Amino acid sequence: MTKLNIAVSSCLLGSEVRFNGGHKRHRWLTDVLSQYADFTSFCPEVAIGMGIPRNPIRLIQTDVGIKAVDSVNLVDDYTAPLQDYAESVVPQLKDMDGYVLMQGSPSCGMERVKLYSEKMIPEKNASGIYAEVIQRELPFLPIEESGRLTDPNLVENFVQRLFVYQAWRREQPWQSAKGLIDFHARQKYLLMMHDYPTYKSLGQLLSDLSDKEKLPAIGDTYLQQLMAALKKVPKRGQRVNVMQHVLGYFKQKLSEKEKASIRRSIEQYQARQVPFIVPISLLKHYTHLHGDEFPYLMQQTFLNPYPEELGLRNPI
Ligand code: SF4
Repeated sequence: MTKLNIAVSSCLLGSEVRFNGGHKRHRWLTDVLSQYADFTSFCPEVAIGMGIPRNPIRLIQTDVGIKAVDSVNLVDDYTAPLQDYAESVVPQLKDMDGYVLMQGSPSCGMERVKLYSEKMIPEKNASGIYAEVIQRELPFLPIEESGRLTDPNLVENFVQRLFVYQAWRREQPWQSAKGLIDFHARQKYLLMMHDYPTYKSLGQLLSDLSDKEKLPAIGDTYLQQLMAALKKVPKRGQRVNVMQHVLGYFKQKLSEKEKASIRRSIEQYQARQVPFIVPISLLKHYTHLHGDEFPYLMQQTFLNPYPEELGLRNPI
Protein backbone atom coordinates (compact mmCIF):
# COMPACT_ATOMS: atom_id res chain seq x y z
CA MET A 1 0.00 0.00 0.00
CA THR A 2 1.34 3.42 -0.93
CA LYS A 3 1.09 5.78 2.00
CA LEU A 4 -1.24 8.74 1.75
CA ASN A 5 0.20 12.26 1.67
CA ILE A 6 -1.83 14.38 4.05
CA ALA A 7 -1.50 18.03 5.00
CA VAL A 8 -2.35 18.73 8.64
CA SER A 9 -2.63 21.82 10.83
CA SER A 10 0.61 21.70 12.84
CA CYS A 11 -1.04 21.96 16.25
CA LEU A 12 -2.99 18.73 15.58
CA LEU A 13 0.28 16.83 15.34
CA GLY A 14 1.38 18.05 18.74
CA SER A 15 3.48 21.06 17.71
CA GLU A 16 3.27 23.82 20.30
CA VAL A 17 2.36 26.55 17.85
CA ARG A 18 -0.99 27.80 19.16
CA PHE A 19 -1.45 31.40 20.30
CA ASN A 20 -0.97 30.25 23.93
CA GLY A 21 2.06 28.07 23.21
CA GLY A 22 0.02 24.88 23.42
CA HIS A 23 -1.02 22.23 20.95
CA LYS A 24 -4.16 20.24 20.10
CA ARG A 25 -2.73 16.81 19.40
CA HIS A 26 -5.29 14.61 17.70
CA ARG A 27 -4.73 11.00 18.78
CA TRP A 28 -6.48 9.36 15.84
CA LEU A 29 -4.17 11.21 13.48
CA THR A 30 -0.94 10.63 15.35
CA ASP A 31 -1.61 7.09 16.55
CA VAL A 32 -3.80 5.52 13.84
CA LEU A 33 -3.81 7.34 10.52
CA SER A 34 -0.07 7.99 10.79
CA GLN A 35 0.52 4.28 10.00
CA TYR A 36 -1.00 4.83 6.56
CA ALA A 37 0.02 8.39 5.87
CA ASP A 38 2.94 10.77 5.68
CA PHE A 39 1.99 14.11 7.16
CA THR A 40 3.12 17.56 6.08
CA SER A 41 2.30 20.17 8.67
CA PHE A 42 1.32 23.78 8.10
CA CYS A 43 0.81 26.55 10.66
CA PRO A 44 -0.21 29.64 8.71
CA GLU A 45 -0.05 32.00 11.70
CA VAL A 46 3.53 31.06 12.51
CA ALA A 47 4.42 31.03 8.82
CA ILE A 48 3.38 34.69 8.42
CA GLY A 49 5.57 35.68 11.34
CA MET A 50 3.16 35.81 14.26
CA GLY A 51 5.07 34.81 17.37
CA ILE A 52 4.46 32.12 19.98
CA PRO A 53 2.76 33.05 22.24
CA ARG A 54 0.70 35.76 20.53
CA ASN A 55 -2.64 37.45 20.86
CA PRO A 56 -5.39 35.31 19.37
CA ILE A 57 -7.08 36.60 16.25
CA ARG A 58 -10.79 36.79 15.50
CA LEU A 59 -12.92 37.13 12.40
CA ILE A 60 -14.87 40.34 11.99
CA GLN A 61 -17.47 41.10 9.33
CA THR A 62 -16.68 44.52 7.85
CA ASP A 63 -18.09 46.50 4.94
CA VAL A 64 -15.24 45.26 2.77
CA GLY A 65 -15.47 41.59 3.74
CA ILE A 66 -14.30 39.32 6.52
CA LYS A 67 -11.10 40.37 8.31
CA ALA A 68 -8.85 38.48 10.72
CA VAL A 69 -7.66 40.94 13.35
CA ASP A 70 -5.82 40.86 16.65
CA SER A 71 -8.56 40.17 19.21
CA VAL A 72 -6.93 42.39 21.83
CA ASN A 73 -6.05 45.59 20.00
CA LEU A 74 -8.58 45.03 17.16
CA VAL A 75 -6.20 46.90 14.85
CA ASP A 76 -3.54 44.52 13.55
CA ASP A 77 -5.00 42.97 10.43
CA TYR A 78 -3.65 39.57 9.32
CA THR A 79 -6.13 38.92 6.53
CA ALA A 80 -3.94 39.59 3.50
CA PRO A 81 -0.83 37.79 4.85
CA LEU A 82 -2.92 34.69 5.64
CA GLN A 83 -4.52 34.76 2.19
CA ASP A 84 -1.16 35.27 0.48
CA TYR A 85 0.38 32.43 2.45
CA ALA A 86 -2.52 30.14 1.51
CA GLU A 87 -2.05 31.01 -2.18
CA SER A 88 1.66 30.26 -1.84
CA VAL A 89 1.10 26.72 -0.51
CA VAL A 90 -1.54 25.72 -3.08
CA PRO A 91 1.06 24.28 -5.52
CA GLN A 92 2.47 22.10 -2.70
CA LEU A 93 -1.01 20.91 -1.76
CA LYS A 94 -1.55 19.62 -5.29
CA ASP A 95 0.72 16.75 -4.23
CA MET A 96 -1.47 15.90 -1.23
CA ASP A 97 -4.30 13.38 -0.95
CA GLY A 98 -6.13 15.36 1.71
CA TYR A 99 -6.00 17.95 4.45
CA VAL A 100 -7.00 17.87 8.13
CA LEU A 101 -7.65 21.33 9.52
CA MET A 102 -7.99 22.52 13.11
CA GLN A 103 -11.60 23.22 13.98
CA GLY A 104 -12.78 26.65 15.07
CA SER A 105 -9.56 28.48 14.17
CA PRO A 106 -9.93 31.91 12.53
CA SER A 107 -7.09 30.81 10.23
CA CYS A 108 -7.51 27.04 9.77
CA GLY A 109 -11.19 26.36 10.59
CA MET A 110 -13.02 24.67 7.73
CA GLU A 111 -16.45 26.02 8.72
CA ARG A 112 -18.43 27.25 11.72
CA VAL A 113 -15.69 29.63 12.92
CA LYS A 114 -17.18 32.45 15.03
CA LEU A 115 -17.71 35.59 12.98
CA TYR A 116 -18.15 38.84 14.93
CA SER A 117 -20.02 41.97 13.91
CA GLU A 118 -18.12 45.28 14.05
CA LYS A 119 -19.72 45.75 17.48
CA MET A 120 -17.95 42.53 18.52
CA ILE A 121 -21.10 40.46 18.81
CA PRO A 122 -20.66 36.87 17.56
CA GLU A 123 -23.40 36.67 14.94
CA LYS A 124 -22.53 34.12 12.29
CA ASN A 125 -20.09 31.42 11.26
CA ALA A 126 -17.48 31.45 8.54
CA SER A 127 -14.42 29.58 7.31
CA GLY A 128 -11.00 30.58 8.60
CA ILE A 129 -9.15 32.99 6.30
CA TYR A 130 -6.45 30.49 5.27
CA ALA A 131 -8.88 27.58 5.00
CA GLU A 132 -11.26 29.56 2.80
CA VAL A 133 -8.55 30.06 0.17
CA ILE A 134 -7.48 26.41 0.28
CA GLN A 135 -11.05 25.16 -0.14
CA ARG A 136 -11.72 27.59 -2.99
CA GLU A 137 -8.50 26.80 -4.86
CA LEU A 138 -8.63 23.02 -4.36
CA PRO A 139 -12.30 22.04 -4.51
CA PHE A 140 -11.45 18.39 -5.21
CA LEU A 141 -9.16 17.91 -2.22
CA PRO A 142 -10.68 15.80 0.60
CA ILE A 143 -10.68 18.15 3.59
CA GLU A 144 -11.94 17.51 7.09
CA GLU A 145 -11.59 19.31 10.36
CA SER A 146 -10.44 17.77 13.61
CA GLY A 147 -13.71 18.13 15.53
CA ARG A 148 -15.62 16.05 12.99
CA LEU A 149 -13.10 13.22 13.12
CA THR A 150 -14.67 11.78 16.24
CA ASP A 151 -17.83 10.67 14.43
CA PRO A 152 -17.28 7.15 12.99
CA ASN A 153 -19.42 7.91 9.93
CA LEU A 154 -17.45 11.05 9.13
CA VAL A 155 -14.12 9.30 9.75
CA GLU A 156 -15.08 6.50 7.37
CA ASN A 157 -16.33 8.98 4.80
CA PHE A 158 -13.11 11.02 4.95
CA VAL A 159 -10.78 8.00 4.75
CA GLN A 160 -12.72 6.66 1.80
CA ARG A 161 -12.34 9.96 -0.04
CA LEU A 162 -8.62 10.05 0.74
CA PHE A 163 -8.03 6.69 -0.92
CA VAL A 164 -10.25 7.41 -3.95
CA TYR A 165 -8.46 10.71 -4.50
CA GLN A 166 -5.06 9.08 -4.07
CA ALA A 167 -6.00 6.52 -6.74
CA TRP A 168 -7.12 9.32 -9.05
CA ARG A 169 -3.86 11.23 -8.62
CA ARG A 170 -1.67 8.16 -9.02
CA GLU A 171 -3.45 6.56 -11.97
CA GLN A 172 -4.24 9.79 -13.84
CA PRO A 173 -7.23 8.17 -15.56
CA TRP A 174 -8.05 11.35 -17.50
CA GLN A 175 -5.11 10.52 -19.82
CA SER A 176 -7.25 8.11 -21.84
CA ALA A 177 -10.87 7.20 -22.47
CA LYS A 178 -10.20 3.69 -21.22
CA GLY A 179 -8.64 5.05 -18.05
CA LEU A 180 -11.72 7.10 -17.25
CA ILE A 181 -14.14 4.29 -18.04
CA ASP A 182 -12.18 1.75 -15.97
CA PHE A 183 -11.89 4.16 -13.05
CA HIS A 184 -15.62 4.87 -13.13
CA ALA A 185 -16.42 1.16 -13.33
CA ARG A 186 -14.51 0.54 -10.10
CA GLN A 187 -16.47 3.25 -8.28
CA LYS A 188 -19.86 1.91 -9.36
CA TYR A 189 -21.17 0.53 -6.07
CA LEU A 190 -19.42 3.10 -3.91
CA LEU A 191 -21.05 5.88 -5.91
CA MET A 192 -24.40 4.14 -5.94
CA MET A 193 -24.24 3.98 -2.16
CA HIS A 194 -23.41 7.66 -1.76
CA ASP A 195 -25.42 9.29 -4.52
CA TYR A 196 -27.25 7.29 -7.16
CA PRO A 197 -28.23 10.28 -9.38
CA THR A 198 -24.57 11.31 -9.58
CA TYR A 199 -23.60 7.75 -10.50
CA LYS A 200 -26.03 7.98 -13.43
CA SER A 201 -25.00 11.47 -14.51
CA LEU A 202 -21.29 10.60 -14.41
CA GLY A 203 -22.01 7.62 -16.62
CA GLN A 204 -23.59 10.02 -19.11
CA LEU A 205 -20.63 12.38 -18.82
CA LEU A 206 -18.34 9.53 -19.90
CA SER A 207 -20.60 8.37 -22.72
CA ASP A 208 -18.69 10.29 -25.41
CA LEU A 209 -14.93 10.32 -24.93
CA SER A 210 -14.05 10.37 -28.63
CA ASP A 211 -12.28 13.73 -28.53
CA LYS A 212 -8.94 13.15 -26.80
CA GLU A 213 -8.37 16.88 -26.41
CA LYS A 214 -11.39 17.12 -24.15
CA LEU A 215 -10.39 14.35 -21.75
CA PRO A 216 -8.62 16.53 -19.14
CA ALA A 217 -11.62 18.87 -18.93
CA ILE A 218 -14.02 15.92 -18.71
CA GLY A 219 -11.74 14.46 -16.03
CA ASP A 220 -11.96 17.69 -14.00
CA THR A 221 -15.75 17.72 -14.19
CA TYR A 222 -15.85 14.03 -13.31
CA LEU A 223 -13.57 14.45 -10.30
CA GLN A 224 -15.47 17.45 -9.00
CA GLN A 225 -18.80 15.61 -9.11
CA LEU A 226 -17.32 12.37 -7.80
CA MET A 227 -15.75 14.00 -4.75
CA ALA A 228 -18.91 16.01 -4.02
CA ALA A 229 -20.97 12.80 -4.17
CA LEU A 230 -18.60 10.86 -1.92
CA LYS A 231 -18.80 13.64 0.65
CA LYS A 232 -22.43 12.75 1.29
CA VAL A 233 -22.70 10.29 4.14
CA PRO A 234 -24.86 7.39 2.92
CA LYS A 235 -28.04 6.55 4.74
CA ARG A 236 -28.61 3.05 6.08
CA GLY A 237 -31.13 2.30 3.31
CA GLN A 238 -28.60 3.25 0.62
CA ARG A 239 -26.04 0.89 2.10
CA VAL A 240 -28.62 -1.89 2.29
CA ASN A 241 -29.67 -1.30 -1.30
CA VAL A 242 -26.11 -1.67 -2.62
CA MET A 243 -25.45 -4.77 -0.54
CA GLN A 244 -28.57 -6.35 -2.02
CA HIS A 245 -27.25 -5.53 -5.50
CA VAL A 246 -23.98 -7.25 -4.67
CA LEU A 247 -25.81 -10.24 -3.23
CA GLY A 248 -27.58 -10.54 -6.58
CA TYR A 249 -24.29 -11.66 -8.16
CA PHE A 250 -24.39 -14.83 -6.10
CA LYS A 251 -27.90 -15.90 -7.08
CA GLN A 252 -26.68 -19.02 -8.88
CA LYS A 253 -23.46 -19.47 -6.98
CA LEU A 254 -24.36 -19.85 -3.32
CA SER A 255 -26.59 -22.35 -1.57
CA GLU A 256 -29.95 -21.19 -0.22
CA LYS A 257 -28.50 -21.48 3.27
CA GLU A 258 -25.55 -19.24 2.46
CA LYS A 259 -27.73 -16.63 0.78
CA ALA A 260 -30.14 -16.68 3.71
CA SER A 261 -27.31 -16.05 6.15
CA ILE A 262 -26.12 -13.01 4.14
CA ARG A 263 -29.69 -11.72 3.84
CA ARG A 264 -30.13 -12.16 7.58
CA SER A 265 -27.02 -10.12 8.39
CA ILE A 266 -28.15 -7.34 6.01
CA GLU A 267 -31.52 -7.31 7.80
CA GLN A 268 -29.76 -7.18 11.17
CA TYR A 269 -27.73 -4.21 9.96
CA GLN A 270 -30.92 -2.55 8.76
CA ALA A 271 -32.46 -3.15 12.20
CA ARG A 272 -29.37 -1.62 13.90
CA GLN A 273 -28.51 -4.92 15.57
CA VAL A 274 -25.05 -5.32 14.01
CA PRO A 275 -22.55 -2.85 12.51
CA PHE A 276 -22.03 -2.40 8.78
CA ILE A 277 -18.84 -4.44 8.97
CA VAL A 278 -20.83 -7.66 9.60
CA PRO A 279 -22.78 -7.97 6.31
CA ILE A 280 -20.01 -6.33 4.29
CA SER A 281 -17.47 -8.86 5.61
CA LEU A 282 -19.71 -11.73 4.53
CA LEU A 283 -20.10 -10.23 1.05
CA LYS A 284 -16.34 -9.74 0.81
CA HIS A 285 -15.72 -13.28 1.94
CA TYR A 286 -17.88 -14.77 -0.83
CA THR A 287 -16.57 -12.31 -3.41
CA HIS A 288 -13.00 -13.43 -2.70
CA LEU A 289 -14.03 -17.07 -2.64
CA HIS A 290 -15.53 -16.82 -6.13
CA GLY A 291 -13.34 -13.95 -7.32
CA ASP A 292 -12.38 -15.58 -10.63
CA GLU A 293 -15.99 -15.59 -11.73
CA PHE A 294 -16.72 -12.05 -10.58
CA PRO A 295 -13.79 -9.87 -11.67
CA TYR A 296 -16.06 -6.83 -11.91
CA LEU A 297 -17.08 -7.25 -8.30
CA MET A 298 -13.53 -7.96 -7.15
CA GLN A 299 -12.32 -4.59 -8.38
CA GLN A 300 -15.07 -2.60 -6.66
CA THR A 301 -13.84 0.14 -4.32
CA PHE A 302 -17.07 -0.42 -2.37
CA LEU A 303 -15.72 -3.72 -1.06
CA ASN A 304 -12.17 -2.49 -0.39
CA PRO A 305 -12.22 1.27 0.12
CA TYR A 306 -9.24 1.40 2.53
CA PRO A 307 -6.97 -0.91 4.58
CA GLU A 308 -9.09 -3.18 6.76
CA GLU A 309 -6.69 -2.65 9.66
CA LEU A 310 -8.06 0.86 10.08
CA GLY A 311 -11.02 -0.86 11.74
CA LEU A 312 -13.69 1.39 10.23
CA ARG A 313 -17.13 0.43 8.94
CA ASN A 314 -18.24 -0.12 12.49
CA PRO A 315 -21.15 2.29 12.78
CA ILE A 316 -24.28 0.43 13.85
S1 SF4 B 1 -5.03 26.28 14.14
FE1 SF4 B 1 -3.71 26.65 12.39
S2 SF4 B 1 -2.86 28.67 12.76
FE2 SF4 B 1 -3.70 27.97 14.70
S3 SF4 B 1 -1.98 26.99 15.72
FE3 SF4 B 1 -3.06 25.39 14.63
S4 SF4 B 1 -1.99 25.26 12.69
FE4 SF4 B 1 -1.42 27.22 13.60
